[in-house]
Amino acid sequence: MITAKARAVDGPDQSFRTAEIVRRDLDTQDVLIEIKYAGICHSDIHTAHGEWGEVNYPLVPGHEIAGIVTDVGSEVTKYKVGDRVGVGCMVDSCGDCVNCRKGEEQYCLKGNIPTYAGVDKYGEPTQGGYSSHIVVTEDFVVRIPDNIELDAAAPLLCAGITTYSPLRRWGAAPGKKVAVVGMGGLGHMAVQIAHAMGAEVTVLSQSLKKKDDGLQLGADSYYATSDPETFEKLAGSFDLIINTVSASLNMDAYFSLLTLDGTLVNVGAPGEPLSLHVMSLIGHRRSFAGSMIGGIRETQEMLDFCAEHNIAPKIEVISADEIDEAYKRVLVSDVKYRFVIDTSTM
Ligand code: NAP
Ligand code: ZN
Repeated sequence: MITAKARAVDGPDQSFRTAEIVRRDLDTQDVLIEIKYAGICHSDIHTAHGEWGEVNYPLVPGHEIAGIVTDVGSEVTKYKVGDRVGVGCMVDSCGDCVNCRKGEEQYCLKGNIPTYAGVDKYGEPTQGGYSSHIVVTEDFVVRIPDNIELDAAAPLLCAGITTYSPLRRWGAAPGKKVAVVGMGGLGHMAVQIAHAMGAEVTVLSQSLKKKDDGLQLGADSYYATSDPETFEKLAGSFDLIINTVSASLNMDAYFSLLTLDGTLVNVGAPGEPLSLHVMSLIGHRRSFAGSMIGGIRETQEMLDFCAEHNIAPKIEVISADEIDEAYKRVLVSDVKYRFVIDTSTM
């Protein structure tokens, strides 16, 4: 067994502490990864704070993992020692249900095994990327293209795929008007990816503070949702809205921005329920949808797309001692635009 250095949290109001965790011995299809960088996703914060339900502490979060393969099991065929690889939000699934067979392992009918706060097929709790090493079955490992730096690759494993997948599915393309609500970790990836897909992109942020960055990342326009005129001016404008906000919003106001047959896809996942008037959807045959990360094949497709289009997140690299401070800053939208932990500081 491998002992990994990690940062763990013991309860919803606790600070992170140093920890040692055990990674399993390599099974025949397992890959041992030395983690180099781990992104901080708002989902880590929702989970660590117990906002999504009960958590079995101690918890080591982290599902935006980039590193190097340092050992492989006897039957591994896809990876070899030295490969640059990533792991996202899940580390296994049944592989056999209709959704897994379609390559949509995130919607496994038996439940995918999340990278942390889950239980693996050996009955052990899963622990995430705020650590020095991880063991993952090769089918849940993806390859990081050579022209993407490892620190910048990490956030693609969740923020990248979570926005790429609905943009592809709902047809972001030339001639389509896409709005991105919230310019945080997910939002700033959605802007770049939708722009690269050829859509006309608008950012809807709480203020205009990040407008210059939004335009530089590829947005065509940028509006403050704190200004009520924004909603009057943009009424009926968008074919697709990707809502990345981590808190609940007045959904009806956002539905009013959709065209006939437009769709609002929620990827933001606040712990509390959202409320809506169904008339806001009925009126213009609008749809309200959700989307969760993406499958493994699509995650590889997203990485290759980002490599081809020179897309990378804007990151702030921090040491492991700065995780608590980073969480506080994410909670007040003070991040440009993803914190990434240098795991050599574990
Ligand atoms: P983040 O970096 O904190 O970004 C969220 C952004 O939402 C903020 O930067 C802010 O943007 C806006 N916002 C925050 N609070 C707000 C409020 N009270 N009212 C209006 N706007 C507010 O978070 P993230 O890592 O991008 O994650 C966003 C959400 O997606 C989280 O709920 C996370 O759990 C969820 N998520 C879902 C999936 C999935 O598979 N569906 C995957 C990953 C994450 P502005 O400053 O521009 O207003
Ligand atoms: Zn995430």
